Amino acid sequence: MDDAPVDIVDRHRTTVFEIDRDGCDRCGPHVEAFVFVEMPDGKPLSYCHHCGTRFWVELNRQAAHVYDLRHMRTP
Ligand SMILES: [Zn+2]
Repeated sequence: MDDAPVDIVDRHRTTVFEIDRDGCDRCGPHVEAFVFVEMPDGKPLSYCHHCGTRFWVELNRQAAHVYDLRHMRTP
């Protein structure tokens, strides 16, 4: 008889990524970034709401990780 193991615990791998409040790498430090990107070589990039949306497809294609905090933007 194949009894299912009783001690299975769902675990989700959690990545902790430190995000400094940063400015947009394209617009400059005066524009707050909401899209944070980690490139495959580890280089971090940050983009404002506008640039993050504009380059969204390309960023997701090239980056190792993309962290979207655009929902945290206050109007
Ligand atoms: Zn920008």
